[in-house]
Amino acid sequence: MTQILDGKSLRNQRIQEMIGRVNQLSRPPHLVVLLTHPNHASSIYVKHKQQACQEAGITSTLIEKPCRSTEEVCELIHTWNKDTVDGILLQLPLHPNIDQQKAINSIPPHKDVDGLHPENLGKLVSEDPSGFIPCTALGIQQLLIHYQIPLQGRHVLIVGRSIIVGKPLALLLSQRNTQANATVTIAHSRTTNLSSLCRSAHIIIAATGSPHLITKDMITSGSVIVDVGISRTKNNKLCGDVDFENIAPLAAAISPVPGGVGPMTIASLLFNTLKSAEQR
Ligand code: NDP
Repeated sequence: MTQILDGKSLRNQRIQEMIGRVNQLSRPPHLVVLLTHPNHASSIYVKHKQQACQEAGITSTLIEKPCRSTEEVCELIHTWNKDTVDGILLQLPLHPNIDQQKAINSIPPHKDVDGLHPENLGKLVSEDPSGFIPCTALGIQQLLIHYQIPLQGRHVLIVGRSIIVGKPLALLLSQRNTQANATVTIAHSRTTNLSSLCRSAHIIIAATGSPHLITKDMITSGSVIVDVGISRTKNNKLCGDVDFENIAPLAAAISPVPGGVGPMTIASLLFNTLKSAEQR
């Protein structure tokens, strides 16, 4: 029987576990979400984040202010770097005029709950647990651990090399500890032998945004498939990078879209915000 890696129920469970820790604090953790380039998808993601914060007892403030220059975004971050704020989340993508890395660099690392500041990425490289791990990478690791998918010694193929998903995930799953210790391969758009890499992997994690890139003929029966991609079909239906319908019967375990990695990304955001509040 194929196991469904249900991120939605695990998100709910993790939120319930966090409530007790939130109640121990002198004031609720406070997350500020900066939406500087509103679009339909970002607005939906932000709504889900706020809803989850509310469930966990975390205060969230949404600042919706369109910005068209890097300076404007940096100024907004500076304005919201208040003592009463534990986490600052800059919702991506930003307006194309903006230097994304420069904007992220202006978030104080100890409030960078998305984990994308170079200081936090550096801590991920050096395996320093005081940093914040990028939310999607952390969420995927937690999902695999919860469903008892062994990582140690396994060949994990990550398709996608972005700074938000693919690269931090590769670093996390290859760390020297029993919740990782995987042998990681990264593939990307210039990879020439994607099918054979997929067939040799125990675990395939697809994070490309290319709908149904991973098809039945590319996988070995019994492998574990994690689908990070979020795209829309012509009929405006959500779909991932994986041909779920045809692959699911062959896989040992598979994450759905929606309801797999997405909710775990949000659970990790809450986890990082709580960690920041506990460290203050
Ligand atoms: P990016 O566009 O930044 O990166 C995509 C990566 O996939 C790139 O490395 C690109 O290669 C690679 N790629 C694209 N097409 C192919 C292909 N045909 N074959 C092999 N590799 C390919 O995207 P993100 O990492 O930000 O996001 C990836 C997907 O995950 C998106 O659908 C996004 O919406 C979703 N997402 C989901 C989240 C969740 O919580 N579920 C969170 C974050 C993202 P190259 O580097 O060569 O261009």
